[in-house]
Amino acid sequence: MNDFVYREGRLYCGDLGIEEIADSVGTPFYCYSLPTIRRHVRVFEESLRGVDHQTCFAVKANANLAVLAALGRMGIGADVVSGGELFKVLRAGIDPGRIVYSGVGKRVDEIDMALTAGILMFNIESEQELEVLAARASILNKRAPIAIRVNPDVDPETHPYISTGLKENKFGIDIDAALDQYRKAVRLDHVDVMGLDCHIGSQLTEVKPFLDAVERLKVLVSRLEEDGIHLRYLDLGGGLGITYEHEEPPHPSEYGSAMVKAAGDLGMKLIFEPGRVIVGNAGILVSRVLYRKETSGKTFIIVDAGMNDLIRPAFYNAYHEIGVVVEKGIGREKVDVVGPICESSDFLAKDRELPVLDRGDLIAVMSAGAYGFTMASNYNSRPKAAEVLVDKDKFYLVNRRQTYDDLTSGETIPDAIMEEGD
Ligand SMILES: *Cc1c(COP(=O)(O)O)cnc(C)c1O
Repeated sequence: MNDFVYREGRLYCGDLGIEEIADSVGTPFYCYSLPTIRRHVRVFEESLRGVDHQTCFAVKANANLAVLAALGRMGIGADVVSGGELFKVLRAGIDPGRIVYSGVGKRVDEIDMALTAGILMFNIESEQELEVLAARASILNKRAPIAIRVNPDVDPETHPYISTGLKENKFGIDIDAALDQYRKAVRLDHVDVMGLDCHIGSQLTEVKPFLDAVERLKVLVSRLEEDGIHLRYLDLGGGLGITYEHEEPPHPSEYGSAMVKAAGDLGMKLIFEPGRVIVGNAGILVSRVLYRKETSGKTFIIVDAGMNDLIRPAFYNAYHEIGVVVEKGIGREKVDVVGPICESSDFLAKDRELPVLDRGDLIAVMSAGAYGFTMASNYNSRPKAAEVLVDKDKFYLVNRRQTYDDLTSGETIPDAIMEEGD
């Protein structure tokens, strides 16, 4: 159940017709439902009721400032993976004490920025990173709260590109090597060893890999206790999947109660880093049909959104349901829905049975609220799409469509080039 529903053959977000929004802001655009985002947060929080925890939204799933501000107002923190994300969540008013910083490649300037902001915790992914962090904290005369991200070597049984907790992945520190790292970390000046962290992958559709990871983390926690290293936080990452097509991921309440049962009795504050499950099904990408084109044996529906707007189909061969914004009574046909970009991988759906579409029709690419706009690019010098946030009977243009001037705003032509003849 979400806020995107058909009434008398027309797709709505809350009380607003998608067609009316399209007429107002143009296409393509992302449309997010604020009530749906809020409901997802409440359901997630409800599943962890009674347990000391902090939810830190994984900003890479959706970094729109208005979305981040809405989450912040609900007491949600942030899991950031870059200085840019840190900048955005601070700008959105998220409490620095609720920010964790993950990622294998934190630069010195990014580390300094996070130390200055006073974030909750750095999730450390390598020995060198820890050394650099300790040195920067010393120079800035700050204390650096850390967790070590361990790689528990469990198979999340998801797409290989979004699995992160296997030995062969670049993420975290091998769980068998973590004990030594902790022993080293507690001896560092300016470093406060606060927690243990893992994140095993994304779009998980079973509880079991999460529980396997928790079991391995618990072994490490008790081993650390024996060494007199007492941790306050256990960060269990994100990764809970959503339904794009036929997946049946655990409901957040099932996930939450399983996690609480597994880790709730450690006396540690639990941290969760959900991304997709909060915003994925709270957003759609709306696009207009430019052309239909029939070749021998294939029909292409060419739309004005491309892989630069939504790369998941091209990148992961991901499935997104395609809805027709104004339903049409006439027949169905099997088509490829493709974008205008000069790449064969520029498709939104392949061999999909859809109502017969023609020039001017609007389509909605469903479940596009996570890893949609955040992965958008200017490839083919296409301005990025607009983002709209709907709250019942109101919509807000929360990110205007880029202009052509935006495309060149950072670029300069050296005088020397213009002075040269040919
Ligand atoms: C991507 C990521 C998340 C969020 O993953 P979802 O599948 O969107 O919940 C959380 N933590 C870390 C470290 C990540 O890299």
